[in-house]
Order: sequence, then structure tokens, then C-alpha cells
Amino acid sequence: LSPVPSDIEISRAQSPKAVDVLAKEIGLLTDEIEIYGQTKAKVRLSLLERLKDQPDGKYVLVAGITPTPLGEGKSTVTIGLVQALTAHLNINSFACLRQPSQGPTFGVKGGAAGGGYAQVIPMEEFNLHLTGDIHAITAANNLLAAAIDARILHENTQSDKSLYNRLVPVVNGVRGFSAIQLARLRRLGISKTDPETLTEEEISKFVRLDIDPSTITWQRVVDTNDRFLRKITVGQANTEKGLVRQAQFDIAVASEIMAILALTTSLQDMKERLGKMVVANDKKGEPVTAEDLGVTGALAVLMKDAIKPTLMQTLEGTPVFVHAGPFANIAHGNSSVLADKIALKLVGEKGFVVTEAGFGADIGMEKFFNIKCRASGLVPSVVVLVATVRALKMHGGGPNVTAGAPLKKEYTEENLQLVADGCCNLQKQIQITQLFGVPVVVALNVFKTDSPAEVDLVCKIAKESGAFDAVPCNHWSAGGRGAVKLAQAVEKAANQKNSFKYLYNLELPIVEKIRIIAQKVYGAQDVELSPIAQSQVDRYTRQGFGNLPICMAKTHLSLSHQPERKGVPTGFILPISDVRASIGAGFIYPLVGTMSTMPGLPTRPCFYDIDLDPITEQVKGLF
Ligand code: ADP
Repeated sequence: LSPVPSDIEISRAQSPKAVDVLAKEIGLLTDEIEIYGQTKAKVRLSLLERLKDQPDGKYVLVAGITPTPLGEGKSTVTIGLVQALTAHLNINSFACLRQPSQGPTFGVKGGAAGGGYAQVIPMEEFNLHLTGDIHAITAANNLLAAAIDARILHENTQSDKSLYNRLVPVVNGVRGFSAIQLARLRRLGISKTDPETLTEEEISKFVRLDIDPSTITWQRVVDTNDRFLRKITVGQANTEKGLVRQAQFDIAVASEIMAILALTTSLQDMKERLGKMVVANDKKGEPVTAEDLGVTGALAVLMKDAIKPTLMQTLEGTPVFVHAGPFANIAHGNSSVLADKIALKLVGEKGFVVTEAGFGADIGMEKFFNIKCRASGLVPSVVVLVATVRALKMHGGGPNVTAGAPLKKEYTEENLQLVADGCCNLQKQIQITQLFGVPVVVALNVFKTDSPAEVDLVCKIAKESGAFDAVPCNHWSAGGRGAVKLAQAVEKAANQKNSFKYLYNLELPIVEKIRIIAQKVYGAQDVELSPIAQSQVDRYTRQGFGNLPICMAKTHLSLSHQPERKGVPTGFILPISDVRASIGAGFIYPLVGTMSTMPGLPTRPCFYDIDLDPITEQVKGLF
């Protein structure tokens, strides 16, 4: 329709097919799905075993130029592309997307189901609770947080003997260690298995984690933009015996458990990663893990359903997996390895799996290759780099935009000079993609204000800059039909020679890996570590974590650390203020400036527009 109706109107106008029908269409067996309502189903991991000999399909990553407040449309391109492949070219395809956090849905950003005629439906199901994975993460995360403070309290108020009697109770007249306790004894170098034979010294070693409260890095989480929880004091009741300390809440999707869900490859692997999470140091400076707290099994139980990807569909009835949604700065910002692996089997050798990386290619794509592909072992076939004329104009020096104000004429009228100037950012992101040896197709997401000459100019510059192809896409206004040319270009590119490689070797020292990303990807002259950052690097190296990949926590609004610097900034030294680690997820994350892990609500949040019709039960106002 023209004009294009609102996202929720489009979503509602299409009746989704029943999810069991969709599941059957894509070759799932009845006992491989767990249905949630009529339009969502979780898919069991047993499928991977059944299809293990089936060759994988082609693996496509959608990334973008450096984001601007004008939006680029990576999600809509991802969905438009699979609609074009499956519904118009008859090629099996799957989109694998992140689950959005409810914080932004009710806060500033709104939902993330795509838009126009390229959407996942029903969008209210997608944007809200889905199948409860984020709630499961919240429960697991907060159980671990509670375990840490309770343990400190108990160690502070009890003797070794009393702790031992409670930690290793007598059941039916016999005192016995649990499996998790036996593993802890082995880690401590105590080979005894009979609890009655431990010496006093061994008992003391066993029962005391001796957590140094000032080193606790594990925070509580909630999936709401609740700015007043950014700094809190815990332990104020008399029952906590004065063990007061400052802490914070993060938004649930910033939990390391979310990053683990996104990177894990099996239940066994998830359990191991959960156990390895470092939550604090002890008073000797050694790491204390979830496994030391005895909570690994319980965390795995809370996460046992969340590990299964959720099946949904696009507006044109093609399959989508929604699974995991880690932060794109302090984590890697990509949907799950498991969803991609299952989808690659389901589409078959000639099919395509299209997934999306958060932020610009310098961040989301770099992490996709160096962190996610390393965890999965999968080799990407093509990168689709999304750009818009209006965002390129901003990189070319176009004026800033203010939320709520009408767009300035630079963005609504033809201005070839601004477009040409801004293409430097697109060129740089093409070059970054080429560092990894994967062919790149530029998708120019067309807005109705773009002139044909502007569209042609971007495509011409993109091809001259080394893109395999560059095509305008109209999926937002025309659905899959508007992305057929993109789908054809992607299909061709997937048959090109692919010499995929990681950017750095894991064995390099931490600082060297950071420098390679800063110089080769961001274009920095060098990096500069604060004294705290340097001491953290030394600590992680000493603790044996030096060989992990790097997950840079940097602003997404510029290739540099300064968000106002658009285009391709040069001549800057990247300042690293701190270095932290997510050992279970498996990466070190250097902080470039401060990163907020708890968004706030603005004066007029999205929730003002969200309502429920009590008669029809329809949700209104989501976008
Ligand atoms: P990203 O994934 O890059 O954050 P999205 O695909 O979620 O971006 O799109 C952001 C917003 O812009 C959505 O509300 C979407 O409907 C809108 N949008 C995307 N492409 C177009 C377009 N070509 N014309 C108009 N609106 C668009």
C-alpha cells in the first residue's frame, strides 16, 4: 500500500500461519518442537544430532555502516532478504535474529521486528516476552548474585566447623560430598573423597571462598530501563550484620549469561561456561567462579529451555529463529550460534541463513568474525553491508538531527555532494570487511526521499571501492519483491572464492590484540591504556585468561572513540580506560570510555503510546 501503513498495522493485517504448519514445511518432526501459543515454538537441540550429516547452507551476515540517529535498517534488510530468497526466488532461507530487550521497547528505541513490509510477525510477541528466555536469564543471573552475598555473610558469621557441617550435611547417618564439591576439592589439590578424613587445614581451605567484596563484578539484573538502580546499596537490613556494600543493577541483556546463551554450542558446553564465570577475586587475588559457589547445576536448570531457539515467521511466511540478544558493546551483539547451526542444517546445501550483527561493521561484524565464528567454527559466505543515503549524508557533514523535529532539507532533497563526501564511511566499512576475506554486497536501503541520482551514486562508489555488487532495495515499501535484486547478488557472491580469516591470533598478548583491532579496523594511530587497564591486563594474563578473544566496548556512533566524529576519523589514539572479562562467555572486554549497562527512561518514553484493548486483547502502540 502507499503510503506504507504503520508497522503494527501491517503486522496485524497479515494472519500468521500456525507454527506447527510452518515447522512441518521446514522439515521439523513433531517431537522436535515445543509449541508456545499459536505462532511460536521452541526447537529442540536433538535436531542437530538428526541432521549432523546434512551439509550446511550458505551463511550470510548483515552488517552496516557507522550508525546515525537516522537509522540504517539492518533488521529490515535481513528480513527483506529472506523474504526475497524464499518467497520470490524459491530458495530455502532462514533469518536468525536477536531477541529485543523489553527495556528499549518501553523506553526510547521501540521494538526491533524490522519494519514496513519486512517484519517478523506477530511483532508484539516478538518484542515482548517471547518464550521467556530473558526472564530465565534474569532468574539465573540473580540466583548467582544472591549466592555471592549469602556466602560472604555465612563465611563472616560462622566457624570453619559450622560451615563444614552445613555445606556437607549428614544424610541418613552419612556425610557425603556432592559432585560439585568433589570437583572443588580436586581444584584445591585435595584428592580425598571421604568427608570424615579432611584435616582442619583442608576443611578451612574447602569452606572458605574468602571473597573480597570490593572485587565483586557480578551484578543483579532486570529487563527494565530503571536508571535509579545504576548505583544501589545492598545489605542494609540488620540481619545482614553490617555487610553493606555498593552494587548496581544492569539491564538483563547485559548479563554474561546472555552472552553465554548466544555463544554456546550445546547443553554440556553451556554448563561448562556457566561454571567458569568469574564473579570476584578472593583475598589472595585468585578468581572465584560460579562453580566455586556450587551453583552451576542450578543455573543450567534455569536455562534449560532458554537454550532452544524460538521459531517464528516473516510477513511472507518464511521461517525465522529468534534467539539471544547480548549487548553489542560490553558483549558481542550477535544472535545465537545454536540458531545459526540449526538453520544452516535445515536450509540444506543450496539454502541461505541470514543473520545480523549489531551496530556498524567495525563493531558488530568484527565481533561476529573474531568471537562468534571462533566459537561456532562456522565460515561466513557473504557480508551484506547496509547503507542509506540519509545516513551517508550525515557522514558527509550533514547537520545533526533532533528527535521529534522535522528532518532538515539536506536529508529530504537531493544533495549529491553530501552523499559523495559521506561515502568515505561506506568505503572504510567495505575495506574492513575485506580484511576478513569475505565478499561484500552493499544493500542500499531506499527511503522515499532518495533521488535516483543519489541511489546510483552510492552504488557506483560502492562497486569502485571493492564491493562485489551494490544494489538498491525497496523491501520496506514492497516486501521481498523489493529485495529480489539483492537476493540475486547475494546468491552470486556466495559462489565467489572465499578466503575467510580471523584478524588476530589468540596467542598474541592482550594489548597486541587490542592494538590490531584499533589500528586495522578503527583506523587509530595507537592505543593508550590507563594504569587501571594495564593492571587488569596483567591480572588476566597472570590468571591464565590472556588467550581469549577481545570484545571492544566502544561507542558505535563513530569509528573512533568520539561519537561526534563522523565519516572516517584519523589521527586519534584510542584510550582504554579499563579492561574486564567475561570468562564464561569467553572474551576480554576493554572499555573505551564509560559504557552504561543500564539505560534510563526519557521524559516521554514509548510506554505512553502502548495500550491494550480489553475487548479484542489487541496490543496498540508498539513500533
Ligand atoms: P537497524 O536494524 O539498523 O537498527 P531497523 O531495520 O530496525 O534498523 O530499522 C529502523 C527503523 O527504520 C524501523 O522502524 C524501520 O521501520 C524504519 N525503516 C527501515 N527502512 C526504512 C525505509 N526504507 N523507509 C522508511 N523507514 C524505514
